Amino acid sequence: MKQSQMLIPTLKETPADAEIASHRLLLRAGFIRQNASGIYSYLPLGLRVLQKIEKIIREEMNRTGAQELLMPAIQPAELWHETGRWDVYGPELMRLKDRHNRDFALGATHEELITSNVRDELNSYKKLPMTLYQIQTKYRDEKRPRFGLLRGREFIMKDAYSFHADQEDLDKQYQIMYDAYTKVFERCGLEFRAVIADSGAMGGKDTHEFQALASVGEDLIAYSDSSDYAANIEMAEVITADERPNVDMLPLTEGKDNGQRTGLKYVCFKANEKLVVVYVREDDEINDVKVKNVLEADMIEVLSDQERAETGFDPFQSDSETIILADNGVKNVVNGTLHVEETNKDYINVNPERDLGVSVYHDLRFIKEGDPSPDGKGRIKFARGIEVGQIFKLGTKYSESMNAVFLDENGRSRPLIMGCYGIGVSRTLSAVAEQCHDENGLIWPVSVAPFELHIIAVNAKNEEQMTLADRLYEKYSARYEVLLDDRKERAGVKFAESDLIGCPLRITVGKKATDGVVELKVRKTGEVIECSVDELDHVIS
Ligand code: ATP
Ligand code: MG
Ligand code: MG
Ligand code: MG
Repeated sequence: MKQSQMLIPTLKETPADAEIASHRLLLRAGFIRQNASGIYSYLPLGLRVLQKIEKIIREEMNRTGAQELLMPAIQPAELWHETGRWDVYGPELMRLKDRHNRDFALGATHEELITSNVRDELNSYKKLPMTLYQIQTKYRDEKRPRFGLLRGREFIMKDAYSFHADQEDLDKQYQIMYDAYTKVFERCGLEFRAVIADSGAMGGKDTHEFQALASVGEDLIAYSDSSDYAANIEMAEVITADERPNVDMLPLTEGKDNGQRTGLKYVCFKANEKLVVVYVREDDEINDVKVKNVLEADMIEVLSDQERAETGFDPFQSDSETIILADNGVKNVVNGTLHVEETNKDYINVNPERDLGVSVYHDLRFIKEGDPSPDGKGRIKFARGIEVGQIFKLGTKYSESMNAVFLDENGRSRPLIMGCYGIGVSRTLSAVAEQCHDENGLIWPVSVAPFELHIIAVNAKNEEQMTLADRLYEKYSARYEVLLDDRKERAGVKFAESDLIGCPLRITVGKKATDGVVELKVRKTGEVIECSVDELDHVIS
């Protein structure tokens, strides 16, 4: 492509609301544009990277035998009623009505859709197993969209769903997907860890997250310094406390909330001299709660009943002592988890409208760096991560509620056993940018770079330079994806923008064009090699 003909609207100024490097650089280098909070356009350069990531994902998914399909983004409410999630999902699900006043949702996820598509088809063990996937736009009305593509309200996800006759077969597929995810993220050039996602159980193995390591990551990972053990620690700030309580468990206490509803549970602890209480609505099946990132605290203590009494704090009075929840507070997660609507100064208001399907634990453990790890090997260390993917063993949750059954070998009717597997495609793009940049701009790994080679004609008005640049462009376009900077801009601008865009290799055609000599620069290392055009082939490969 010729740069003079491409839409690459670079910005000199750093956009004010872009807090992290990847967001800043993707905007500044003209890869994305924001259209509304958490809603972005992928400009030509951004789309090229996105398509490369998608291609890697497709190749690895297809290699596992998964088949691609495409489901609608818009989904009828009836399906969500079947699983009960219409009521459970909460405000993150974007809802709308058609002209006949029928309810629809914009797909936040597609378990209902896929199950409805296969329920009459995968009706015999002979048709199993099967894995289907799509790459598609998802909608989640995130409370705090931020960090550019990392937490969008419209984003691109690869989601896959597998169907099995028995648990062993699901276990097998889960491992295949685990391996495929590992390949995907390796090929994208990410430094990542696969972590046990439900760290409450510390050792549970039915879901893993793939976490790209980054200091801006919202998740905290505890990993062993001498084994493969790694888990997502959801109470990040609590765990890093120097002092920790002498308790391993944070029991839930039954009580009423400030609205005097009964049957609620709450946990109560003290942080930064503030008492924090978190209420949880309990429903029939779920009897415990996951408390995530509850607070930012240097020190945390669990109060005994007596201590609680001594503080004079009455969790049932909304006007009692100030309770602060860090505003990165408890997160709303698919399928429920403790859902905090408001974090006003006085109290934490757990969404009063809904009973929540909560995935959860009773035993909130407090661990700190240097503790022995759970698998008996090495010591605990912490790192921050960006969740770029997650795989789950769903079991029969959706097939039972939606009556997706098959006949087994003995002619008995049984619910399909399911797995589901997500990758944040657009989030992966941002995660790569977050890991691969320097103060001058992006540094794309070859595998996902918008162009592999950037050729710059230093002075596009100089005929010799332009002729040579054109010649190299023609030649290398046959083998590589090449961007030719043929613009009549100042050299300084061209170099700066080239670093900003971050193609892996750059050929500069300048004054020595007359002698057939050019300069090759490796973006990542900064290494510069001057060579003749004839040597170039050899040097590039
Ligand atoms: P998070 O904990 O960050 O909110 P999640 O656990 O809710 O993510 P999943 O339901 O597991 O997300 O969805 C699968 C993948 O989709 C995630 O691993 C993540 O990479 C991506 N994803 C989820 N929410 C967003 C978002 N708001 N913007 C961009 N990508 C997202
Ligand atoms: Mg989420
Ligand atoms: Mg998550
Ligand atoms: Mg997840």
